[in-house]
Amino acid sequence: MTIEQVQRWVRPNIAALKPYSTARDEYKGSIGIYLDANENPFENGYNRYPSTTLKGQVRTAIAAKKGIASERLFLGNGSDEAIDLLFRIFCRPGVDNVISIAPTYGMYSVCAAINDVEYREVMLDEDFSLPVDKLLAAADAQSKLLFICSPNNPTANAFPREQILSLVRQFPGIVVVDEAYIDFSSEPSMVELIDEYPNLIVLQTLSKAYGLAGLRMGLAMAHERIISIFEQVKYPYNIGADTLALALRLLETDITPQVQTLIAERERVAAAFRAVPCITKVYPSDGNFLLVKTERPRELYEYLIARELIVRDRSRTPGCEGTLRITIGTPEENERLIAEVARYK
Ligand SMILES: *Cc1c(COP(=O)(O)O)cnc(C)c1O
Repeated sequence: MTIEQVQRWVRPNIAALKPYSTARDEYKGSIGIYLDANENPFENGYNRYPSTTLKGQVRTAIAAKKGIASERLFLGNGSDEAIDLLFRIFCRPGVDNVISIAPTYGMYSVCAAINDVEYREVMLDEDFSLPVDKLLAAADAQSKLLFICSPNNPTANAFPREQILSLVRQFPGIVVVDEAYIDFSSEPSMVELIDEYPNLIVLQTLSKAYGLAGLRMGLAMAHERIISIFEQVKYPYNIGADTLALALRLLETDITPQVQTLIAERERVAAAFRAVPCITKVYPSDGNFLLVKTERPRELYEYLIARELIVRDRSRTPGCEGTLRITIGTPEENERLIAEVARYK
């Protein structure tokens, strides 16, 4: 597949778009008297629109970390912005469709509904493995996006790279691999393949392993021509000045020790849960959370709430019947959780 083919999937109105040009897009200098953007001139730290230079620095820093050219990186207001942009760029409302595994992250179907795009779900196999053939069979000429969340939320497993790659090779549209939890995974990232496959878009986020959920910053990585369309369609100043400044500073922190602790804690909590009678199954996890099966999920959920332990009830999600999703906390928090669960019944 060539980039020219991928570009043909862009909605005609987007391909023809003359993007909004901000005052700061036009003048690239730095010193001077700025009378071009109708800002309030009195300094308070926030009177100016976010600096494009600073955004460039953040982009360069993150691209370097990910080992890609900065032209191949889009910074969004959370990866949720990137997901929404994918629909707005590629999917004609009422005409096109997208395909996704199920169960998976809820934002894909919400964005599909908001954009009036048909959402085709293909259930994972019983053991949560990837139904490659069924996903391919669900596609037709109007299928623009295929969402593969790996490691998958809420099932916690990562799919083998070879299987995702075979989808990238065969799917007649764009394959979006959401790697929100990749730093906790034993499977490698697909990012290094964006050079080779123009129909591959990889999403990551600073919300999980980087510990910056409050900042709202997500990443889309793809061929530079796709990224340049993202840049044209996004809101002009999609990332605030504070977020940019903090991201630049906080990205210097090495996340490896925390990630290693969380992975070790995940395995410790999983082992403890496997020894508790009320938990009938602990699914293998490549994320920073565990999916566990229990006889009376709602009852265990309420029991934990009463003890100020808040987890996610996934028992009404098709394919996840009887399950709770539990995030790995600090060692002390996990200790509390294990003790309370062990005391249940
Ligand atoms: C948490 C999560 C995200 C993160 O979204 P942000 O908008 O970047 O906070 C993305 N995808 C999945 C699958 C998630 O679980």
